[in-house]
Amino acid sequence: MIKLKNIFLDLPKKHQVLISGCSLFLLILLVFPSEKASASRNNTKSAIEVGKIYQLDIPEETQIAEPEVAAVKAEQISWQTAIVKSGDSLGKIFKRFGFSAATTYAVDNTAAGKNLRSLKVGDEINIASNDDGDLIKLKYQMSLTDTLIVNKTDTGFSSSVEQKQIETRIDYAQAQITSNFWSAALASGLSNNQTMNLANVFGWDIDFALDIREGDSFTVMFENQYVDGDFVGHGNILAAEFSNQGETFKAIRFKDGEYYAANGDSMRKSFLRAPVSFQYISSSFKPKRYHPILKRVKAHNGVDYRAPQGTPVKAAGNGRVIAATFNKYNGNYVFIQHANNIVTKYLHFSKRAVKKGARVKQGQVIGYVGSTGLSQAPHLHYEFLLNGVHRNPRTVKLPDALPIDKKYKAEFSLVANNMISQLEGSKQAFLAATDTAVSTIAE
Ligand SMILES: [Zn+2]
Repeated sequence: MIKLKNIFLDLPKKHQVLISGCSLFLLILLVFPSEKASASRNNTKSAIEVGKIYQLDIPEETQIAEPEVAAVKAEQISWQTAIVKSGDSLGKIFKRFGFSAATTYAVDNTAAGKNLRSLKVGDEINIASNDDGDLIKLKYQMSLTDTLIVNKTDTGFSSSVEQKQIETRIDYAQAQITSNFWSAALASGLSNNQTMNLANVFGWDIDFALDIREGDSFTVMFENQYVDGDFVGHGNILAAEFSNQGETFKAIRFKDGEYYAANGDSMRKSFLRAPVSFQYISSSFKPKRYHPILKRVKAHNGVDYRAPQGTPVKAAGNGRVIAATFNKYNGNYVFIQHANNIVTKYLHFSKRAVKKGARVKQGQVIGYVGSTGLSQAPHLHYEFLLNGVHRNPRTVKLPDALPIDKKYKAEFSLVANNMISQLEGSKQAFLAATDTAVSTIAE
């Protein structure tokens, strides 16, 4: 002890002060805290105390991430892009990049690896490898929203699909028709597809080839889709209003994907007015036409629609094929039995597309326009029979498709009211804007 004291006294003054200070501090640590520490056990919220050992909650992520980051930093990784060629597979692409068949196998067998089995020509795959040429990471954008990510792990590879949300925004388009519907629709900002959809929604009430007049107008409320703030495409038409020759039609889309009028009636009919896209009507329905020369009644029990050879003919409504065959008068023909004792008949096909007994849906192709049987030129002879009696397919009152289900009526009313008021607001804003525009444009 004396020796220690001498050593201490031999030290320079600064060191003596430092050592004394430290000793005093240690003494305080040894004497005071032990009592306080026991007291603090019952009070975990107390302030940090000297001399107590604290368990720090270090997030596990941080603990794991650090060595990994270090490893990635240590090795150089380089990214390359593979473009999928015709006949390509993951194996072929990996081979071009110098990866082994074992790597292909391991990646293919990861959780989301099967997404790499259906590569499309032109797709891009981003591949990262290290200095040794080993696969480290892979990114494959499968769609606008989905990206497959493969990562090298200690034991092999792991994969997952990152999904981006599609954001939907509402937009409106309006137009007053001055020349024709199609150009007005395109000028209003609707795409070709949307224009067609709009015509389809109202196509049961308005004949877009014949009924459109100058002064007709429409307002459409539709969805636009965005990913990461970028426009990626149009969604559905949610609601639309069409004024045609003074009559106004409104259609609202419901969650079943169908369009209904504000009162819940379906916008569709259960039958197509014309089952073929035709050029003109070459012979109308004349059930009891007295032939002055033959001196007998010669009826034309259907409508002849002139259309190019091969034009697809659709089933006018849901039903079952009760005849699909050939004879020398009808040529190739198809008859369909529908609900409510309705039968439709289609004659002179170049080719039939259904067999007897088949169930068909409205709009399904059942054959192709031709000139077989007693026919002078390619056309479809179409008949509509109700309770066995021929009716004029151009004018017969077509049954409506099913209205909104009763259990959804209340929900639909809410949706419809909301959409109609939005549509109305947009229309008013548009009319106000065009009134000003029209007065400044002198034609
Ligand atoms: Zn005919």
